[in-house]
Amino acid sequence: MAELQDLVVIGGGAGGFAAAMRAAQLGGRVTVIESTHYGGNCMNKACIPLTYLMSGARLVDCARKAGRFGVQVGEPQVDMEVLHARKDLIIEGLRLGTEQLMAEYGITLVEGQGKLIARDTVEAMPTGVTGSGAQQIKARNVLLATGSVPAQLPIEGADLPGVLGTEEAIELHEVPERVVVVGAQPWDLELAQYFHFLGSQVTLIVEGDQVLEGADREVAQRLGKLLHDSGLAIKRRTAVEAIREADDGALVVVLAEGKGEVAADKVLAARRLPNSVGLGLRQVGVRTEGGAVPVNDRMETNVPGVYAIGDVTKGIMWSHKANAEGIVAGECAMGQHSRMEYDALPHCAYTWPQVAWVGLTEEEAEVACPQMRVGQVPVAINPYAMILDETAGVMKVIAGKYGRILGVHLVAPGAVDLINGAALAMMSEATVEELMRFIPRHPSLGEALVDAAMDVEKRSLHMPKW
Ligand SMILES: Cc1cc2nc3c(=O)[nH]c(=O)nc-3n(C[C@H](O)[C@H](O)[C@H](O)COP(=O)(O)OP(=O)(O)OC[C@H]3O[C@@H](n4cnc5c(N)ncnc54)[C@H](O)[C@@H]3O)c2cc1C
Repeated sequence: MAELQDLVVIGGGAGGFAAAMRAAQLGGRVTVIESTHYGGNCMNKACIPLTYLMSGARLVDCARKAGRFGVQVGEPQVDMEVLHARKDLIIEGLRLGTEQLMAEYGITLVEGQGKLIARDTVEAMPTGVTGSGAQQIKARNVLLATGSVPAQLPIEGADLPGVLGTEEAIELHEVPERVVVVGAQPWDLELAQYFHFLGSQVTLIVEGDQVLEGADREVAQRLGKLLHDSGLAIKRRTAVEAIREADDGALVVVLAEGKGEVAADKVLAARRLPNSVGLGLRQVGVRTEGGAVPVNDRMETNVPGVYAIGDVTKGIMWSHKANAEGIVAGECAMGQHSRMEYDALPHCAYTWPQVAWVGLTEEEAEVACPQMRVGQVPVAINPYAMILDETAGVMKVIAGKYGRILGVHLVAPGAVDLINGAALAMMSEATVEELMRFIPRHPSLGEALVDAAMDVEKRSLHMPKW
């Protein structure tokens, strides 16, 4: 049996390796057990490959519009093999870098399937082996960082060939003629736009009112209109009753309430569920709710010394959230008094234009703070947006009665980076007055954010109100 560990992490993904490295920085003896690939879903099958593919597809869109800059390139051709080969190279580099980094931290890496067999004992079964060969590791603290698993939507026909999850859609080396995307998660929109840029006819079907779940209503409406104007067919407030196979082998998506049918060659219809099965949780008494592990703000489960972070816990599934939770769990396992704070957690979609937000939506702010004020400007007023020929979008700042920034919502080029500054401002409890006095570089998109802050007091220089 190996030496007693301060922390054993089950799952070497976005959250798990952050926890392991932080605990190691604090002098802990740390082991990470990983069953497949270090870097987890994020690095291997989700955030990294999809953001890369979107960037590639976006080049196609840019090439089509290059004539506006006097650059003549003709209709772009995409070599899907080259596109995917570069994706695999990036993933491989990141994965090796992560493994090397963990080794440099002195973290013990164990390849295998981890599970709790006692509160302070984890069993690691080498991948592909059953029966003997398991290693038992004693630990003062254990962290569950096993992420999530793909699951079919509860729709008749969701198991038909041609109905894809995000992982299969990302790995598709062809451009289907007709694609239907069912869902309103950021990655649903990203994949919809990815195939659209590559030339597929895409229909996006969302059950709710908004194309992007959780976003500010107005922002989601703007995004929906932009996607629609760019050529995506969008059906909102539409449930899918079934997916059937047509005689010609194509798929038919049958809409509920007699709203018709949509023919497709591929259908993206998937969701993700917390990965808590087979971890020995029940035997050790770790509580789950709907498959997710509830935790407090120190990432502690109900069993002392057992922590959980990321997708396996309740709440929104984001890599940067898992990462931040991992740091808190690593610190708590090493005896520090850290706590998670979610008020300034940014949310993003890597669509084009990008969407990003932090804090309350306007609807939530109306309830939380009836005297809230809203400032908002179209991206079209911004000189840098004009230079880039990317004028579609909006920036919105929501302030409380005394000027506290309650939320920032962006549909804009570069939104995923701009939101980091807005989140930092919120975290530092900056007021909207301070944001107004901030000096953004010129020309930059940050100028529009300052304009939106100024518009809270109806004094944006570029948005005269008379
Ligand atoms: C298509 C798509 C795109 C996304 N894009 C983004 C994005 O752009 N930005 C963002 O922030 N989030 C994005 N997400 C969400 C993000 O991928 C997850 O929130 C994030 O990966 C969660 O991190 P984690 O550490 O909890 O789990 P993971 O990163 O999935 O890591 C879990 C690890 O545990 C391992 N494991 C599981 N069970 C065991 C076991 N029993 N023993 C040993 N190892 C085990 C797995 O192999 C895996 O490596 C996206 C998700 C999807 C589906």
